[in-house]
Order: sequence, then structure tokens, then C-alpha cells
Amino acid sequence: EAKRNGRNRHEVFRPELEEAARVRRQTEADLRCALHLGQIEMHYQPIVDKQGRRISGYEALMRWNHPARGQVSPLDFIPLAEETGLIHELGERALNLACQQAMTWVDGESVAVNLSPVQFNHPGLVDIVALALADSGLPPGCLELEITESVLLENSSDNVKTLRALKALGVGISLDDFGTGYSSLSYLRSFPFDRIKIDRSFVRDLGESREALAIVRAITGLSNSLLIKTTAEGVETQEQLARLQAEGCTHFQGFLFGRPEPAQQRLRRVVAVVERDATPIAG
Ligand code: C2E
Ligand code: MG
Ligand code: MG
Ligand code: MG
Repeated sequence: EAKRNGRNRHEVFRPELEEAARVRRQTEADLRCALHLGQIEMHYQPIVDKQGRRISGYEALMRWNHPARGQVSPLDFIPLAEETGLIHELGERALNLACQQAMTWVDGESVAVNLSPVQFNHPGLVDIVALALADSGLPPGCLELEITESVLLENSSDNVKTLRALKALGVGISLDDFGTGYSSLSYLRSFPFDRIKIDRSFVRDLGESREALAIVRAITGLSNSLLIKTTAEGVETQEQLARLQAEGCTHFQGFLFGRPEPAQQRLRRVVAVVERDATPIAG
């Protein structure tokens, strides 16, 4: 009886599974096309310094500019790209675009590119980064790579070697979304991170949750004594900014300071500021 029910259930769900598999195959094909058609773009969001005034860098965030669906969020296609291996090509494109585009407007600021844990399975990762720097001419000190804790969890000794090789190129390494995964303090001993990014969920709950505040305090306290920069993600209000400043966060990122926007728009904005600030020299 149970077996029959089980089989029945299986029969009922099968068309749905097939449909899901079909949608995935179609999305994968579309994504592959998008890469070749240049529909994969990078948007840039500013990261500001302690006082919340000067832009110290930008995070490059991937967008799929889909002809019918509009701007598709990376959250909707990166997991599939990771499963299919397409992430290697996407990640390489992201890196090259970010390095080339940053060259058109940055003036000492850094540009941060997210790396998927899957990219660490690619033996050519270090060469790909080195080539992106060489081809674009971006100074290595201006590039930051953002990784998540899972990189340290899986194949950790190989991955730490890769991180060291990346760091030897002169790029900075950031630990993204800190506090959301296993967040072992030993990660901070296993590798000399340049920056820790405090996840948006803690910033969001800062006002209502004593726990969120305590965690932010612990992360900034530890980071400051280890001389690691801290970027609070998802800062949307002046109150959040004031609290985070009081806790000793060194950098901020969020809609309060600017949304991610295309390189062209970012470039125009920088030119406008330069023109506004340019005062004619007398005589
Ligand atoms: P992330 O690296 O933690 O990036 C920060 C996310 O927070 C971005 O979402 C950004 O748009 C969003 N954000 C920034 N400030 C605020 C704010 O004040 N409020 C709110 N509500 N959100 C804010 P996005 O662009 O949708 O990217 C989502 C995730 O996708 C990223 O999280 C990152 O993990 C991944 N991702 C993005 N671009 C790439 C890429 O080029 N390669 C890889 N492997 N992953 C990427
Ligand atoms: Mg990031
Ligand atoms: Mg993040
Ligand atoms: Mg986050």
C-alpha cells in the first residue's frame, strides 16, 4: 500500500520535474547566448570611507541585461551557472570587464569583484586574474577579490594556497557576507584578509536586535585589532550609519550612498564632479 502511494506520488510529480529540468536547460542555453551577445554587464556600487564622504572603491556586481526580462539579478542565475560550470566563463568576463571599465574612471579607488567558490576549482584562476590585470593595465593594488567563507570550508588547504598566490599578485582579498556562514574565527588565522564585509542582515537588524549589535561589535573589534578593514553592507539609513561609525566600522556600502549603476553612468557622474570641483586658476 505504502509502496503504491509512493509510486503514485512519483507519477504525479514527474511532469513537474521534467518541466523544471526543461526550464533549467533553456536558462542555461540563454545564459550561454547572453555571454556571447554581450548581455552580461557589470554595475558598480560605491564604497565610502569612515566619514561617509569619500568614495574609496566600488563593488562590481553582475547583471544580465535580458531583452525580454530586463535586468536579471545574479541571485537568479549564478547558482545555475555554478552547477553547469558556466560560472568560469562568466567569472572571467566579470573580472575582465571590471578591470577594463574601472581603468576608465578610477583614480586610486579600488574595484572589488566577487569570486564564486566554484571558480576555485579551476586550476587557471590565478593566471586568469593576472591576465585581467595585465590586459587592462589596472594596478593590482586597485583590485580586490571577494570570497565567501565556503571557500575556506571546502578543499581548504588547496584554496588557501590559491588565496596566497592571488595575494602575491598584489590584489586585496575580502571576506564577503561575514557572519552568515560558519564564521569560524580560525579563518582569520588561516589567511590574512584585507577586509571583512559585515553582512547586510546584521546592519538591517541593528536597531531592533541586541544580538545583531553585539555581533557587529565583535566583528569590528576583532578586525580593528587585526588591522583588517571592515565594510558594512546594505547601509540604508543615517541611523545605521551613525551606529556603525560608533562601532568603529571603517567603510560603508549601501543605498544611502549609491545604488549599483552601469559603468557609463558612473563615468559621467565622476566627470560631472570633476567639472564642478574644477575652479579656474586666476592669472
Ligand atoms: P554581495 O556580494 O553580498 O553583494 C551585495 C548585494 O547587496 C548586491 O546585490 C547589492 O546590489 C545589494 N545591496 C547593496 N546595498 C544595498 C542596500 O543598501 N540595500 C539592499 N537591500 N541591498 C543592497 P546583487 O547585485 O543582487 O548581488 C547579489 C549577490 O550575487 C552578491 O552579493 C554576490 O554574492 C553575487 N554576485 C554579484 N555579482 C557577482 C559576480 O560577478 N560573480 C559572482 N560569483 N557573484 C556575484
Ligand atoms: Mg560581494
Ligand atoms: Mg556581500
Ligand atoms: Mg551580503
